[in-house]
Amino acid sequence: MRKLFFIINPISGNGKNTSLEKFISSNLVRQTEIQYEIRHTLHGGHASELTREALDHHFDAVIVAGGDGTINEVASHLVNTNTALGIIPVGSGNGVARHFKVPFNIKKNLDMIIRGKTTLLDVGTANNKIFLSNAGLGYDAAVIKDYAYQQRHGFISYFFSAIRSTFFFSVPKVHLSVNGNAFPVNAFFFSALNGSQFGYNISLDRNARTDDGLLDFVILDTKSRLKAIFVAICVLFKGKPRLEGFTTVHSQNATVHFPGQRLSLQIDGEPSVVEDQLEFKVLPGAIKVIVP
Ligand SMILES: [Mg+2]
Repeated sequence: MRKLFFIINPISGNGKNTSLEKFISSNLVRQTEIQYEIRHTLHGGHASELTREALDHHFDAVIVAGGDGTINEVASHLVNTNTALGIIPVGSGNGVARHFKVPFNIKKNLDMIIRGKTTLLDVGTANNKIFLSNAGLGYDAAVIKDYAYQQRHGFISYFFSAIRSTFFFSVPKVHLSVNGNAFPVNAFFFSALNGSQFGYNISLDRNARTDDGLLDFVILDTKSRLKAIFVAICVLFKGKPRLEGFTTVHSQNATVHFPGQRLSLQIDGEPSVVEDQLEFKVLPGAIKVIVP
């Protein structure tokens, strides 16, 4: 008997997740080999409480119907456990779901969950906080911070946050130590990628893999907004920018120093703040994920 624990965030994405519980029940009720429980998040931090409850009761998998923020919250408790993570993408950007290539069609997604094939995938950490997709402290962090203040959510809001940040974001000056080298960086863009996706199918490094035991550090070392706009256009049109200052470094870890500075950070699309120093690490194969 497999035990599945579903966590639905009713306000993720378009907020139309109310019929999901009915849909899941009607599809699982005939599965005699599966025992399941469906819960809804009612407040911030509730997804964590529910995941701990699922772990206490030895569920085989916790399946999240939510955005990248809720997925990250649940996943942080599943790292280095035997309980698998399942993802039903109902958020707005859905970067994590896109990287794991889980079906966006709910019926196909449930079929995948019922089959229950799992694989072990890497998890990244930024000062010990986990990320499945990416974490960054340059432009992407500024966009996420701006977006967090917006009333409306969705692609258009991200777009306007991106435009505003392009002109008003102040480029942090940091010192990077990676692969035995140390050098200063004007971190217009500085992101550690575990997977390849930024959400909305935007990718800076389509070759980033979640099973190679490495993080891909994508760095744009410049203060020039013009250069940054050039890179952005390349990325949006799915080209690979060839430009001095734009590099990708593969490593298991990296440390970024910025003594006396307080910088914005984004972790799987959630805003946070970091002081003085940031340490990135990879935890190879640390999470079991239900995959197609
Ligand atoms: Mg990797």
